[in-house]
Amino acid sequence: MEELLQKILEQNRYRVKYGRVASYIPALAKADPGNVGISVANMKGQLFTAGDCCVKFTMQSIAKPLALIQALVDRGPVEVFRKVGMEPTGDPFNSIIKLETLNPSKPLNPMINAGAIAITSLIKGKNSSERIERILKLVRLMAGNESIGINEKVYRSEKETAHRNRAMAYFMLDTGVLDGDVEDILDTYFLQCAIEVTCSDIANIALCLANRGSTPAGREIVPAEIVRIITTFMVTCGMYNASGEFAIKAGIPAKSGVSGGIMAVVPQKMGIGVYSPALDPKGNSTAGIHILEDLSAWLDLSIF
Ligand code: GLU
Repeated sequence: MEELLQKILEQNRYRVKYGRVASYIPALAKADPGNVGISVANMKGQLFTAGDCCVKFTMQSIAKPLALIQALVDRGPVEVFRKVGMEPTGDPFNSIIKLETLNPSKPLNPMINAGAIAITSLIKGKNSSERIERILKLVRLMAGNESIGINEKVYRSEKETAHRNRAMAYFMLDTGVLDGDVEDILDTYFLQCAIEVTCSDIANIALCLANRGSTPAGREIVPAEIVRIITTFMVTCGMYNASGEFAIKAGIPAKSGVSGGIMAVVPQKMGIGVYSPALDPKGNSTAGIHILEDLSAWLDLSIF
């Protein structure tokens, strides 16, 4: 397996030059655009790695499905989907337009920023610190890594510059999608985006989802019914407005983030974490996408 990973990684390394590291969150611009790493965790929990699999990066949007798990555990699907829809948008992840044009106003799904901010507000806790602690606890359990924490610099950098997310949040306060302390809700959102991981952590989290919510040793962390909802969203909305193309080309439930990470779940087979921070215009890692497509073709991983 490691030989195959190495080969696929080397074949796709050149693609980093066709992407750009995200800079709208200033701290993300410091990433090394040459980094490329992959980790695969099989059903026994064995890890196979290649390249920069130990470089730390922040989850960014990869945290969205995890926050959604916590909200579903806390509130149940009826309450959660009263606030946020289940449909793909076709718009960029940070688009604001449909918040006003759709009636009744409701973010289309939990994988776009507006939807994710609304989801974060549903996580139980009396303030941001309590909510982020609960998300962190879940992430650490799924990853099997107690040392996972927050990258303070990235968190602060986003908090200082998140004018668009702030605009969406206040808009949602106006339309009744959000209620409560908007700055406190946004704070949880910025913190969850700044959770710091490696490809191997992502592979282990994905493995838990691939194993219907349980660790390889059989301990249930997430109810299987919630895993089904999460992996479905990953297929329909996980790769921004390139989700359809990725479903056709790779056929693996996946969620990407603007730091260049991608979490991919092959049900009953493996969890995959990829990292390469140079992004295409839609926000997906240029090398990462193709590495997953190639791995899927080599190992026949498409779920369709
Ligand atoms: N923190 C980022 C934002 O809200 C996450 C976006 C992403 O990874 O798609 O803009």
